Amino acid sequence: MIIVMKADTQPDSPALARVIAMAEGYPGITTQVHRIEGATRSVTEVYLLGPTGVVPTEPFEEFAEVERVVRVTEKFRSIGSHGGGLEAVGFEYQGVHFSQETLHVFPGLCAVDTREHVEVMFRALQEYGVETSRAGAYKPRTSPYDFQGLEAECLPWVFELAGKYGVKVIAMEITHEKHVEEIRSALEASGHATGVMLQIGTRNAQNFELLKVVGQQTELPVLFKRGMGITLEESLNACEYVASGGNRRIVFALRGMKTQLGDPHRNFVDFAHVPVVKRLTRLPICVDPSHSVGSRARGPSGMLDIFHATAQGVIAGANMVLVDFHPAPDKALCDGPQALLMDELPLFLEDVSIVRQAYEERLKRIARPEG
Ligand code: PEP
Ligand code: MN
Repeated sequence: MIIVMKADTQPDSPALARVIAMAEGYPGITTQVHRIEGATRSVTEVYLLGPTGVVPTEPFEEFAEVERVVRVTEKFRSIGSHGGGLEAVGFEYQGVHFSQETLHVFPGLCAVDTREHVEVMFRALQEYGVETSRAGAYKPRTSPYDFQGLEAECLPWVFELAGKYGVKVIAMEITHEKHVEEIRSALEASGHATGVMLQIGTRNAQNFELLKVVGQQTELPVLFKRGMGITLEESLNACEYVASGGNRRIVFALRGMKTQLGDPHRNFVDFAHVPVVKRLTRLPICVDPSHSVGSRARGPSGMLDIFHATAQGVIAGANMVLVDFHPAPDKALCDGPQALLMDELPLFLEDVSIVRQAYEERLKRIARPEG
């Protein structure tokens, strides 16, 4: 059960304390309080955990400070929208706002290789006004003989360069719980020159112990990538491990499904699921066209399939685009064949913005359902 307090209820409000005390008066019930940054307002929500089936809603509804009481369905308790009864969750990180309404593009290196390449990348982002990027320091590779990433040793100069070129948030995959601490201490040593969104998955999408660890810290937001060969429901349940630990600063990413039916694309592009995940959850949604398409193949018009797939995600309302670029793809140590080139960056950004405008225009013509 979730008790949504009225928007002006502050965390230290006596009414909130009375609601919590009443809830905890029921046998076996414990509470968690979350501050939710919605699209237009912030609200405080009290989550009742335990045998809530016997807890009545009426005593809570009588509080003048309570806006509504929502009985949650079993599915996706923490990230779920529960039939649209709850508004989407947004969050602010490093001055960047993430929600189901915003759109941020994260162009960057699949894997950090040289200082020079990272610098060329970040400098280009600054030139085109992009404050978010991706940079892989820990790479989960299919073969143990492939490049595994520069790991913690590159973090100091990656963060220093991010600070120098105004990159505020870097999406960075981690594969082991010790990476959280390595990233946290390197960020601190850099004087918080930038911020990191911890990517988990696709390969670790069901590494439940790792998901618990990133869920139990709230300093760094999490980019949860859908598992490549499990159902959407299984991925959402796995993502629930992050939220149930207490971290609600989550973006859910679609990155294509592993099946030969997607050939010749590396994965079967699944961006038709953007509105589905928006409906089922309260989370902002990311699409990763690079790992979905996996090549620089282009159609007869000359447009790269990666541009088309990006457009499919954005026109469906995606809130974040994770995309591989590289200054010298033939020298890249990971995923060079799918990297976009630096001189394609302005065109890519322009294309995203054309499609986003079209999405916004389409939305204006649709009446929102009452809710
Ligand atoms: C990545 O983002 O670098 C990556 C390895 O993606 P995925 O796990 O989706 O293949
Ligand atoms: Mn990659």
